Amino acid sequence: MKTLLTVAAFFVVSAASAQSVNRISSAHKLVRNNTRAEIIIPDIAGYQSLKGDFHLHTIFSDGSVMPADRVAEAWTNGLDVIAITDHIEYRPNKDFVLGDHNRSYEMAKKSAQDMGILLVKASELTTDKPKGGHINALFVTDSNPLERAKDSPDLTTAVDEAVRQGAYLLWNHPGWAIDSCIMFPLNEKWIKEGKIKGVEVFNETDYYPRAATWVKEMKITPFANTDAHGMKSDFYRADVYPPFNIVLARERTLEGVREAMFAGRVIAVFDGQAVATPELLKALFEACVEFKHITGDNYEVTNISDIPFDISSKQLSCKLMPRTTMRFKAKGSFAAEITNLHIDENSNLQVTIL
Ligand SMILES: [Zn+2]
Ligand SMILES: [Zn+2]
Repeated sequence: MKTLLTVAAFFVVSAASAQSVNRISSAHKLVRNNTRAEIIIPDIAGYQSLKGDFHLHTIFSDGSVMPADRVAEAWTNGLDVIAITDHIEYRPNKDFVLGDHNRSYEMAKKSAQDMGILLVKASELTTDKPKGGHINALFVTDSNPLERAKDSPDLTTAVDEAVRQGAYLLWNHPGWAIDSCIMFPLNEKWIKEGKIKGVEVFNETDYYPRAATWVKEMKITPFANTDAHGMKSDFYRADVYPPFNIVLARERTLEGVREAMFAGRVIAVFDGQAVATPELLKALFEACVEFKHITGDNYEVTNISDIPFDISSKQLSCKLMPRTTMRFKAKGSFAAEITNLHIDENSNLQVTIL
């Protein structure tokens, strides 16, 4: 009986105290606002390693998010620079989301300044593949003149206008919606004329090995972009990092990013793989992986980055996971292949270890 009385008394006291408290907020420990997950990539070959995604949509084309959401997402995901690339030619929401082709950039600009995210002004030129396909025009000054005349047979006038504005042109997802990566005559012409300077080798969840070969043979720059239409956190598994680019910039500014892109200093990264020139991949490997002699034939190798490295050789064959140290034995220096760092569709980075 005593126990029952005690319990009853407890409820009376609890009810009384609950009535005097109208709000108990636990936001400080329950929400993930203002939490940035850094991507650890050391500076490479004397350049700052800026992380960027240069292909993103909003409600101003066929995306489902507001422009400022892209900025907050970039900051949360550890990025330094993004481009919002709404379609010029495909705006299914245009009857109720009003604004010209510059509006998504204008709406995101203040958030980008406040959060320290570099925001590239950009648009996606959009047509059927033989007519030019999808091309991101990055660093445009005004997106409105990129709209084509109704009788324009292909993207030529839009491409020329973007070039006139000093834009960097990036050919998007060359393997999307068809069975294989095809180099269409217009795209080949624009690459040879120096108008298209980059190509996506990774888009969303795809890898296009043939595009990696074009990077090597046609001396264009590889990119890894999400092409996100909704929030990335709703699409990618929590343990998968979405595609991103390492831009080797002289300074953390838009001009620094622009200069690096035109100079070809970009490493495309996704799904534990990277594509770039052999020089950049070697610099990446050397910046991220440190070897140390312990005693006799005992060595240590440490990966200080968030990129794994698949090392293949007779002396040492391992997957060197992010931010880990492994021990191994060796008798002097040896050659190895880094099988997740791709130079083209058939070859990977070769290095000398120790
Ligand atoms: Zn596209
Ligand atoms: Zn797109």
